[in-house]
Amino acid sequence: RPADIYGAERANPPGLDWSQRAMREASLSAIGGLASQDLRAGPIIGGKLREGETTDIRNPADTRQKLGQVAAATPEHLDEAAALARKAQIKWDRKGGIERAVTLRAMADALEGARDRLLALLTLEGGKTGPDAVAEWREAIDFLRYYGRLAERQFAGLERLPGPAGERNFFRHMGRGTFACISPWNFPLAIFTGQIAAALAAGNAVIAKPAEQTPLIAAEAVRLFHKAGLDPNLLHLLPGEGTVIGSALVAHPGIDGVAFTGGTTTARVINLSLAGREGPILPFIAETGGLNGMFIDTSALREQVIDDVLHSAFGSAGQRCSALRVLFVPASKADALLEGLAGGLAARVVGDPALARTDIGPVIDGEALEALEAHVRRLEREARIVARHPVANDKGHFFAPTIAEIDAPDFLDKEVFGPILHVCRYRAGQLEETARRFAASGYGLTLGIHSRLEGFAKRIRNYVPAGNVYVNRTITGAVVGVQPFGGLGLSGTGPKAGGPNALLRYANEQAISRNI
Ligand code: GLU
Repeated sequence: RPADIYGAERANPPGLDWSQRAMREASLSAIGGLASQDLRAGPIIGGKLREGETTDIRNPADTRQKLGQVAAATPEHLDEAAALARKAQIKWDRKGGIERAVTLRAMADALEGARDRLLALLTLEGGKTGPDAVAEWREAIDFLRYYGRLAERQFAGLERLPGPAGERNFFRHMGRGTFACISPWNFPLAIFTGQIAAALAAGNAVIAKPAEQTPLIAAEAVRLFHKAGLDPNLLHLLPGEGTVIGSALVAHPGIDGVAFTGGTTTARVINLSLAGREGPILPFIAETGGLNGMFIDTSALREQVIDDVLHSAFGSAGQRCSALRVLFVPASKADALLEGLAGGLAARVVGDPALARTDIGPVIDGEALEALEAHVRRLEREARIVARHPVANDKGHFFAPTIAEIDAPDFLDKEVFGPILHVCRYRAGQLEETARRFAASGYGLTLGIHSRLEGFAKRIRNYVPAGNVYVNRTITGAVVGVQPFGGLGLSGTGPKAGGPNALLRYANEQAISRNI
């Protein structure tokens, strides 16, 4: 029972009320303070920042603004990190889950204490709006506390099992060794921290490879974790290109497992690399893309649908793997709904995420922007653009959020990562075929249903496989311990992040049978 795991201890860090001037100003002044510093990130091996070939990091909302520099890790850094991790892990694993949880809680407290600086980094480097930054910061803290609690239960030592008279049977979980944790730019703090927290909680050391776009926040988190008391030899940071240092990491003999969140194609590349290794067969935990749909019927409440759809499709500039990509509406309701959606989109503010009035910030980089523009060109040729929200800002990677109508449920066969909502009408009697053709993409992450009829929700759940089903609400923003998150098929391997089984694939299991 996942909710139980927090017990009385469940306490999310408090959120921020952006309507309060003082709070807003504290955040803004942290943003101003950081923007004027020249921040540094690079390989952090055994707690020390190393040199390397540098790349500039710029604000995605204003590319003229250089935030700092990151130095790329080399294969020598990797060798060194792996050797240090190997040694430190043995001691860490022996401590057991109860003692490790103390460190994880201290790490959570450290993130909580560094609130304004972390929120500022999320906005400046990750392009997050204030509310998105707050939600992400809280999720990172939740992961540490929740996994600490799981470690206390699942890694506390020997568990007694039944057996015949004269025989004592026991069972325990142990760390596997060193985990490679490869995280994405869209949750540069929460997913980065979640993977590390899970691996550590289960008794492993970690070599973390942050996304190319967001190394500053990763380096900041690692510094905070070390300062909070985590042995610096247990967590090393290797920034750099996925094709260079990421590939070297997953091929390295010093790793014992890989946790990855990112695109499905990259997951396949990693899986292939793992399959070709000599030696033991390593576990691979992948959380990948989604092609997420929402189905509404004629009983759905129009205003609620409009709110939830706009939030699910355009919140976080659509840069969540959980975000809504295709909305299925009954033909009889479609015109009225499209009008409402277009009106609601027009009322959103697209712009600088540092401003409290902004709803939709930039996309992460030029490459992301170009891919979205290319998709719009396809929509212009093969579908019908219903609405585009103009963007006045040309300083950063701003994309005009778009709603388009498509004719066929299988118009898309790949994830489109950004603020584009596709709408598809279905006629009464065509629901099952529409849903099944949509599901044929093979993804299975989030699924939305809006209906007052329980039978409708049940049918859709049967037609469309999904790891996370949301009825009469938004489909993003899974909460740790409340909505364990992760998909099926092309969307990932499981176990779910923030769920009761999250630590188990990071662990070895041992059964001990003793005759007396
Ligand atoms: N867990 C996030 C959510 O529920 C999405 C994570 C992701 O985009 O990778 O919205």
